[in-house]
Amino acid sequence: MLRDLFALFYPNHCYKCEDIMPMDQKYFCYKCDQELHRFDNSSPSDNLFHNRLFNKLSIVHAYSYFAYQKSGAVQELIHDLKYAKMKDIGVYYGALLGRIVKENSVLKPDAIVPVPLTKQKLRVRGYNQAQIIAKGVSDILQVPILEHGIVKKRNTSSQTRLNRLARWGNVRDVFSVEVDLQEKHLLLIDDVFTTGSTLEAFGKACLAANCGKISIATLGIAV
Ligand SMILES: [Zn+2]
Repeated sequence: MLRDLFALFYPNHCYKCEDIMPMDQKYFCYKCDQELHRFDNSSPSDNLFHNRLFNKLSIVHAYSYFAYQKSGAVQELIHDLKYAKMKDIGVYYGALLGRIVKENSVLKPDAIVPVPLTKQKLRVRGYNQAQIIAKGVSDILQVPILEHGIVKKRNTSSQTRLNRLARWGNVRDVFSVEVDLQEKHLLLIDDVFTTGSTLEAFGKACLAANCGKISIATLGIAV
């Protein structure tokens, strides 16, 4: 009854076609969900992540749930996870991403590390979306999350407007890892992967702190 009343005032809309859907359907109606582009995770040791990080950062495996395009419904969904306090999007898709990693992994990571936010940004936003996604992955893989001593020192300006050299200068020394990572194989988690410069910088900071191997999992990769 209460649920019906709630649905009347706050109908559940599909992110893509905007049609009203039953309350038990999540984010996309059945038809639109079928049409979404999922990333092909059949070759986690040789895919688009590896191409973009070639000669920059050596990674073992990389996974993504979505393969998304600019201004599409998935970008809007991830935008709402980051800026509209819709944490449940991260919980829901974090678990699905965890299943992808579990099904396609040949090597289980030792720990999961969400890409951190600066203290200032965390205060404004109230949560780190990468951490919420990481929680879902951690629950499915049964691998602990490592966050202590791993910080983002400052913000970077929007990456997309800068050329490659400026981009690198923009993210270098942004992250600081103040713990010994003891040769561990880390699975780094972020919401999206675009140019890869953030994960390149974060990965390098982890390697400098004695991390053994790096794998990556994101909710979406821009294609
Ligand atoms: Zn739809």
